[in-house]
Amino acid sequence: MLFHSIRGVPAIDPEKCMGCGACASKCPTDSLTLHRTRDSILLELNVARCIRCAYCAEACPNNAITIEDKYTVIGRSREELAIRVIVPLARCDSCGEPLRHSAREVELAREKVPDLNVIKLCDKCKVKRVLAR
Ligand code: SF4
Ligand code: SF4
Repeated sequence: MLFHSIRGVPAIDPEKCMGCGACASKCPTDSLTLHRTRDSILLELNVARCIRCAYCAEACPNNAITIEDKYTVIGRSREELAIRVIVPLARCDSCGEPLRHSAREVELAREKVPDLNVIKLCDKCKVKRVLAR
């Protein structure tokens, strides 16, 4: 790092990001945005808007954001200045439909609370399971 008081561009580790959106909710410039599709969550960083405050890195619960020793970014369009991470959603163990949470969030929850089996069922399958008892 050149100077401790100068921060570089944030980098997002696609292997660690779980699409929770904590970083985007803390970003004061809306440089980080979260988009949901049917199968996945897309986290997008618009580097041109970023003021290098590092609030996103502080907010990330899985240490997926690091502040790089990279101070300049060059690009002619928003497309060229965007960093994107796609996080797949978890799927229902019973019917295969996508769930609201990402596969990594569910894995992490299962690691922390091993008895949480019902978390990988969609709402319909949860109801079916309860009614079948
Ligand atoms: S980078 Fe961190 S805070 Fe942001 S969505 Fe991914 S896991 Fe959540
Ligand atoms: S460093 Fe600050 S402005 Fe840049 S993406 Fe993170 S929270 Fe947003």
